[in-house]
Amino acid sequence: MSQPILVGEAINSGYGKFQVLFDVSFNVYENEILVVVGPNGSGKSTLLKTVFGLTTIYSGSIIYKGREVTGLPPHVKARIGIAYLPQTDNVFSELTVRENLMMAAYTLDESEAKDRVEEVLNLYPVLRDRLMYKAKSLSGGERQMLALAMTLVRRPDIIMLDEPTANLAPVVARHLLKKISMLRDEMNKTVILVEQNARAALELGDRALLMVSGRVSYEGFARDLLKDVDLGKRYLGLR
Ligand code: ADP
Repeated sequence: MSQPILVGEAINSGYGKFQVLFDVSFNVYENEILVVVGPNGSGKSTLLKTVFGLTTIYSGSIIYKGREVTGLPPHVKARIGIAYLPQTDNVFSELTVRENLMMAAYTLDESEAKDRVEEVLNLYPVLRDRLMYKAKSLSGGERQMLALAMTLVRRPDIIMLDEPTANLAPVVARHLLKKISMLRDEMNKTVILVEQNARAALELGDRALLMVSGRVSYEGFARDLLKDVDLGKRYLGLR
């Protein structure tokens, strides 16, 4: 296995004084998909937000590419290659698809922005047919694809996705998950995926983190967790 690109060490974090994560440690290896599963309210989203700098960290550390990044604000994390895609409000609904993509590329000079937008349109050709449509007119699946495309415009190394398939029809969700595995297989990205469909997530992911009540209950191969009848039944609704 390659080097960890991201390490969490004994993290305690939350919102103001409300602690959500307790002593959370994990490794994320280069070019893997780490899936984060667990019951509702167990701290999965908070884990992503903590890595990105959107929570209060009381203690512990976050190491990215060997460098301590614990207290860095989100815009700096984004600049050094960490992307975070929130579950909702991740596109500008009143702007067109093209405008959204150009917004994502706003820090780049014009020709580079155009190249990168072209690159993501090749990846998600369905968006090319919708360039002049407002984001609010897209289907749920297309909107998540646009959000993903906006993230990719900045060429991050590690992409954190918070329940991208929430509220999507099963067939659309499966299609999106396939696109997410392409990030690893064809673009060499590292992905942390929070997913409510535990079975689909564990089939897709290389390794898994099971969160229960703000603590890590399992870290290891995703397929081993899928086979663990006890944990699966108790926390993931698997049979
Ligand atoms: P999960 O993603 O596993 O469903 P979350 O990380 O969203 O869990 O939530 C964990 C806990 O943190 C819950 O008790 C939730 O109410 C609380 N929480 C989430 N977001 C906030 C926030 N912005 N402010 C205060 N508490 C929050």
